[in-house]
Amino acid sequence: RKEIDVKQIRKDFPVLHQEVNGKPLAYFDNAATTQKPAQVIAALEHYYKKDNSNIHRGAHTLASRATENFENTRSSVKEFINAPSREEVIFTKGTTEAINLVASSFGERYIHEGDEIIISTMEHHSNIVPWQLLCERRKAILKVIPIFKNGEMDLEAYKKLLSSKTKLVSVVHASNALGTVNPIREMIDLAHNFGARFLVDGAQSAAHLPVDVQALDCDFLVFSAHKMYGPTGVGVLYGKRSLLEEMPPYQGGGEMISEVRFEKTSFNELPYKFEAGTPNIADVVAFDQAISYINRYGKDKIHSHESALLAYAFQKCVSIRGFEPIGTANEKVSVLSFNLKNIHPFDVGMMLDASGIAVRTGHHCTQPLMNWYGIEGTVRASFAVYNTTEEIDRLYESLVRISKRKN
Ligand code: PMP
Repeated sequence: RKEIDVKQIRKDFPVLHQEVNGKPLAYFDNAATTQKPAQVIAALEHYYKKDNSNIHRGAHTLASRATENFENTRSSVKEFINAPSREEVIFTKGTTEAINLVASSFGERYIHEGDEIIISTMEHHSNIVPWQLLCERRKAILKVIPIFKNGEMDLEAYKKLLSSKTKLVSVVHASNALGTVNPIREMIDLAHNFGARFLVDGAQSAAHLPVDVQALDCDFLVFSAHKMYGPTGVGVLYGKRSLLEEMPPYQGGGEMISEVRFEKTSFNELPYKFEAGTPNIADVVAFDQAISYINRYGKDKIHSHESALLAYAFQKCVSIRGFEPIGTANEKVSVLSFNLKNIHPFDVGMMLDASGIAVRTGHHCTQPLMNWYGIEGTVRASFAVYNTTEEIDRLYESLVRISKRKN
């Protein structure tokens, strides 16, 4: 593994080298999507210039090259999350589609009237709405784990919600709005004691924290390539083979069948049963380069670099008049969510943008969480491997200016 040399790393990300509103870009919106290294961009270009073909079909050279590259990424994902087999790795178009796949397919097979599904207060809308829709369809009941003011999960309350009626628990590994890293290993064990299945939303952990599905013993893991230096339009669903085998197909179409007759169709084996139609081949192929990029350094090093940035940013920003951090859990990914007293987060975002600093403002697709805190939204600066303390100094100085202007 290589040491983190941020100067060197920044050279790999072409988008970072530009001015925005006359100032060098400081990109702190990594929880929404990360930037892409040249290796990923080159793989996309190479694919379209040399290999473009439909996969798993056509007996010609380009088709076999495309298929091989596509399937190579599946092997890399398997290694990346330590899945027992490649067949348990299913490509989707993102975290959202992966959760919807489980809600639809697992839901159809395993959720019945009166069953209970548990989520938490800090879930992203994509880990709330599919379960609400499922519960409506099946007359099942959705329960919500409360949290503490610092953004940590209330585990005692979770234990009380669990019962033999619980069929599934679906919880975020690391919160996009707060940064909280949840004790999912412990939560998974607790769910399994009641025979419930557990889905981990790894959208915010895949690029930042070690994720080992066998060590966690999770039943499902979902994440998006675009939040881990990969292309948009690719996501992963990992599921335990025994479950995936039992679950009905999500969508019908080409590739997911074994034999089609008008009377009856038999379905393809895993993972193809869940990959109907032509997938996002180019982006899956290029995703492999994003995984290699992370593996070059290893997530331990990446996480410690990002944690140092978060600690640095936090320690500077707490001194700003009216600075109100939202989410101060002990274990965090590098998300700094905050408000400046008496200033709308949207205005803070606009003023930062004028200084070339990109943050996200608003509810971060976690409206119930914002309601719980009694706020409309926050300003969120989320860090990645290419961010520097100099950029954070600029954030701090701009925030000081903004806070003085209004207070
Ligand atoms: N869950 C979490 C925790 C997220 O941060 C996001 C993206 N903001 C999602 C789910 C949804 O991911 P996608 O939009 O890539 O489907």
